[in-house]
Amino acid sequence: MISDIPVQDKVVFITIDDGWEKDADFVRLIQERQIPVTLFLANMAVKKNYGYFRELQQAGALIGDHTMTHPYMPGLSYARQKQEICDAADIYTTQYGSRPTLFRAPYGETDHDTLRAARDCGMKAIFFWREVVSNGRIAYQRPGGLRPGDILLVHFNPNMTADFKKMLRTIQKQGFRPAAMRDHLPAEFFQ
Ligand SMILES: [Zn+2]
Repeated sequence: MISDIPVQDKVVFITIDDGWEKDADFVRLIQERQIPVTLFLANMAVKKNYGYFRELQQAGALIGDHTMTHPYMPGLSYARQKQEICDAADIYTTQYGSRPTLFRAPYGETDHDTLRAARDCGMKAIFFWREVVSNGRIAYQRPGGLRPGDILLVHFNPNMTADFKKMLRTIQKQGFRPAAMRDHLPAEFFQ
């Protein structure tokens, strides 16, 4: 499970999970500032408006798989876990034009069957995170602030545009900038 990505530069990777809130201002922010983000979408949260995330995709966002119904995966049968991951990947293939290959488990929790199901659904990497951001505030797992290659976890939520700007200022103050996973992960992760 990947919590950070080896990099040379002072860059971090912003991931945004689930997809419940669909704020038009947030799309404009991503477009105007060209901020690279990876979205781990849960189908139950996005199915009423796939188009919203297509706009983010067109602004450069990468679409990842975060299951159909966002269950706690450990202990579920292999068949159920596979269905959760594969069905979401199938839908996103149709909606977003290419099959997701990056996966994050709900709550970051996995068991052996999750890893097997993810692989069997074509996932090339499973992501965890280093920092959780809520209300624009970054909670660090380790002392000393951001480190190069850290993966930040944000959720789609009602105040996200303002919160996101606040987080970006904190990232910038520490001398970091957000980078695109696509530019820093092995090419085979996307095949
Ligand atoms: Zn989630």
